[in-house]
Formats: sequence, structure tokens, C-alpha cells
Amino acid sequence: MLRQVAEGVLVHQSEFMQSNAVVVQGGAGVLLIDAGVTGDEMDCLANDIRELGQPVVAGFSTHPHWDHLLWHANLGAAPRYGTARCAATVRDRLSDPGAKARVATMIPPDLVEQVPLDLLGLITGVPADTARIPWDGPDVRIIEHQAHAPGHAALVIAERRVLVAGDLLSDVLIPFLDLSGTADPIDDYLAALQLIEGVASDVDVFIPGHGSVGAAEQIPARIAQDRAYLRALRDADVLSDPRLGPSAHGKDWLPGVHERQLQCVAGAPGTRKDGLKPSTLG
Ligand SMILES: [Zn+2]
Repeated sequence: MLRQVAEGVLVHQSEFMQSNAVVVQGGAGVLLIDAGVTGDEMDCLANDIRELGQPVVAGFSTHPHWDHLLWHANLGAAPRYGTARCAATVRDRLSDPGAKARVATMIPPDLVEQVPLDLLGLITGVPADTARIPWDGPDVRIIEHQAHAPGHAALVIAERRVLVAGDLLSDVLIPFLDLSGTADPIDDYLAALQLIEGVASDVDVFIPGHGSVGAAEQIPARIAQDRAYLRALRDADVLSDPRLGPSAHGKDWLPGVHERQLQCVAGAPGTRKDGLKPSTLG
């Protein structure tokens, strides 16, 4: 079901990790950001979009993780974009014949049959430093930064006063570091949060890649929660994060991700994970 969160901006939430697909209405059709996860859900989304009376004229993936790179044939054949770094990373990781089988191992076993991988990652990079998504609709500003995954982008739709945060600012997922070889992933993540803080006053609503959509007044609290997590991780401090609690959405597996991140940050040998491995499936 599509839910309107601002004028001309609608959200379709997946059951898997409360993933949010975002529909932005433009002049000749809609822009679809992070289309969704299961085939049935994306098919349902395609029907909902058809009922709006508009075709999908462009797609965008906020970052190169499998759950943000999916697509369904019924959504049509519009160009799908990502940042240049995102597209290069996808190209790199999906170039060999065994790539899709590898991706399938990253998807939870009870879900994998429902996730269509045939159109996975067919995105075109916009040239580096492109300021806006090329499409016929309200300006969508690309705010690229180094956190969570290479070429990760948040998006600001100024005219609609909406921030699409990618996998930042989630109330269900702890910050997942980009451990694909960056020098200081915690510092990078903190810098990204600062960048987001700088655009918070331009919006009324924000949409995280996973979790609840919020009013802009909640952005400082979400940023504070992520900062507290990152600083505790860096200093190996005691942590009380509700996202790791016994009743949290990800209670069965997020504590394991946290544990691996702790080991990585502490420099345990052999724990550096590639960004598409199960530990970073967000
Ligand atoms: Zn994600």
C-alpha cells in the first residue's frame, strides 16, 4: 500500500526490515527510489503506481547493497541511476558469473525464493559530482558521502521538503559501517551525519531506508542515537541502544552485526568484511 508522506511523495514499506520504497511524482511520471525487496511487493507497488495514472520514468538506488538494487519487470524499463561510485561498485561486484548466486547467500533463507534477482543492479552511474537526479520532476538533490556503503547517497527534494536518507537515520538498524576497505569508517559515518544535520532545516519529513518515516523534529534525536552508537563502538564503551534490545525489530541478528563491527574496529585479523556479505545486508 502506498502512503503519502508529503505532497507528491509516497512510501511503500516492505515487511523485510521495514524497507521503504519512495515514489516521487513528476510531470510525466514518477521517480522510484529503492524499489523494494520481494517480487510480490514490487508487483503490488507497480499496480499502485499504475493507479496513480503515471508510469515510472526513472529509478534510483541509494547505495550498492542488494536490498536497494532490486527491480521488477512490471515497473517498466525506465533508466535506473545511482552515484558514479555506487554504479562502479555494483559493476565490480556483479561482474563475474557467480555473482548472483553469491548475492543469494546474503539473503535470509526464508526470503530468498521471493526475491527476484534477474534485474538486480542494472543501474547507470550519474557523472561524479552530479548535483541532481536527471529526470522530469521536482529537483532531487544528491548528497553523496562515505558511510554505510561506497557511493551512498541521501536525497533532498527541496520543493516537497523531504529528505530520503538511504540507510542513515534508521530507528530499526544500528549504523552499519562501510568495512570494504575505508581508512576510518567511524569517522566517515560521523562526517555523513554532520552533512545530514546541515540539510535538516530544508525538510519537514525524512524517510530512512529502513524503519519509520519521521518529522524533521525527530532528526536530531536519530542523529544523536547514531552518534552515541558510533562513539561507543569506537571507544568500546558500554552501549544501551534500543535497536539492539530484546524486543527490537532485528533482535535475532543485529547483535551479531554489532559484535562483528566491534571486532573489526578493534582490528581483529580476518574480520574485514566485504560490503555485500551478510554482515552488511542493510
Ligand atoms: Zn538497506
